[in-house]
Order: sequence, then structure tokens, then C-alpha cells
Amino acid sequence: MSRNSRRKRATRPWQHPEAMRDISDLLAQVRRDTEYDLDGYEVRVVDGDRGHKDYVCPSCGNGVVAGESHVVVWPEDDSDLRRHWHKHCWRIEVRRSTGVG
Ligand SMILES: [Zn+2]
Repeated sequence: MSRNSRRKRATRPWQHPEAMRDISDLLAQVRRDTEYDLDGYEVRVVDGDRGHKDYVCPSCGNGVVAGESHVVVWPEDDSDLRRHWHKHCWRIEVRRSTGVG
């Protein structure tokens, strides 16, 4: 089974069982934390990403360093819009959206 055999596809990932399996593998590495729950969004906490890829937090615009614990967030109906947030930035967003605090 080669990782290089993955083909480029123009269609959306959830239409492909094969691609969905990849996503499941990815999500198996993270756990749920209700502290970060927000209606309409899927949220996963990532305790350090071994893939050395840095992300930009959509809230503060600063980098989310690979290896740093952070959250991955996407709208329930569009996993293409996945974003990596600092935990504290997402918590602020959740509080702002739920009107608590
Ligand atoms: Zn941030």
C-alpha cells in the first residue's frame, strides 16, 4: 500500500470512500473536547501535529506552529473549510458566538 498512489481528484472528499478513510485516520489521532464545542461546527483538538506544517490562525493571523496543541475547526456541512486555530483564539470565538462571558 503506497501513499504515493493517491490520485488527484477534483471532486469532494466525502464522495470517495477511499478519501474518507484517510480523513478517519487523521481524526483518529485527535480527541474531542466539549470545551470547544460550537453549534454548526466540528471541532477537534490536536495535541501536537507531527507533520511539520505550519498553519495560520484565522482569528489572530499568527502562525499555528506544528507540534503545538491546537484545534481544527470546520463547518459541519463543509469540511473543505477546515481551519487550524490557537486554542485560546477558538475559545474566545466560542464565547463570542454563544454569548457567554
Ligand atoms: Zn490565534
